[in-house]
Amino acid sequence: MHIAQTKIEELKSLLSAPRSIVILSHTNPDGDAIGSSLAWAELLKKQGHNVTCILPNRYPYYLEFMPNIKSIVIFKDDKEGRAEAAVKGADIIFCLDFHTLTRLDHLGDLIDENQHAKRVLIDHHLDPSEDFDLMISYPEASSTCYLVALLVEQLVGEEHISRDMAENMFVGMMTDTGNFAFSSVTPDVFRMVSVLAAKGIDIPAIHNHVYNSFTEGRARLFGYVINRKMKIFHNGTVAHMSLTEDELRRFWFQQGDSEGFVNYPLTIKKMKMSAMFTQHTDFIRVSLRSRGDIDVNIFAQRYFNGGGHKNAAGGKSFVSMEETLKHFEKCVKEYAKDGML
Ligand code: 5GP
Ligand code: MN
Repeated sequence: MHIAQTKIEELKSLLSAPRSIVILSHTNPDGDAIGSSLAWAELLKKQGHNVTCILPNRYPYYLEFMPNIKSIVIFKDDKEGRAEAAVKGADIIFCLDFHTLTRLDHLGDLIDENQHAKRVLIDHHLDPSEDFDLMISYPEASSTCYLVALLVEQLVGEEHISRDMAENMFVGMMTDTGNFAFSSVTPDVFRMVSVLAAKGIDIPAIHNHVYNSFTEGRARLFGYVINRKMKIFHNGTVAHMSLTEDELRRFWFQQGDSEGFVNYPLTIKKMKMSAMFTQHTDFIRVSLRSRGDIDVNIFAQRYFNGGGHKNAAGGKSFVSMEETLKHFEKCVKEYAKDGML
């Protein structure tokens, strides 16, 4: 894959003098959001820019190993106003791994206050909004980290990829492709993995950090939700699971503990679509996954005010858990009637 040369030239001209730069990524940040932000920040810092990475809320504990992650300002916990000062003073705001400012929650309001900064999107989600001055949007890319690696290559050359940058980008490339297993994986993704591996990153150690560093509570919560909460319907092809605040407390829930649960029902042969509903204080978080041609991006847009990718999408629900599950089952029926399932 190649980033269009016109985009590279535009980016070069934006970065031709030292700038004050803010890098943002989405709420409930994942490996791709964090990895791409940190790698991009490191490159820009080395080019002489003043860079601040901001996330709307905290990252999961098992990603704490990622190089330089402590340098990220968490907007929700930011009592000293570092995020506000950085956003107000920014010449350029980079938006990584999301496609609409609504994915920033309250941090989005702060961005709207700075109307003079250039907004640059670097992302791989479908249907980006019109909020950006420069759009480096490639929905066919398997991760934003892969896009950032391509950008670095095309802007300054791969010799500018440090070991830390390689490690951060590898995390996002690995997690967003389900360990290089999804259909979005191309030969060029493996070429890029080879470039990163040559920087001396410890791939087995990264794998262990990301996939084998959970709490006991998470393991027990997983067993509980699969055994007790998974409902399979629509002739064995659709599953849903849910977790209330009470249930989360019972298993000493920490942020990130339920990541990935939604994928598990798809290990059943007949399964086409899986949904996970997790109660938060003001809303229910909706996570959707599908196999093959079944499009959960459209499903999320149509029924849960969300979006994402064809096989992995999400949204929010603002009614009770009981009503949300009823709504989901009704939507599945309707979607099937429309020939979408
Ligand atoms: P996850 O289930 O891992 O939270 O999210 C899967 C994908 O769905 C993410 O890549 C993200 O782009 C998308 N997504 C999740 N929640 C939302 C949401 O509330 N709004 C939109 N537009 N997309 C979402
Ligand atoms: Mn991503």
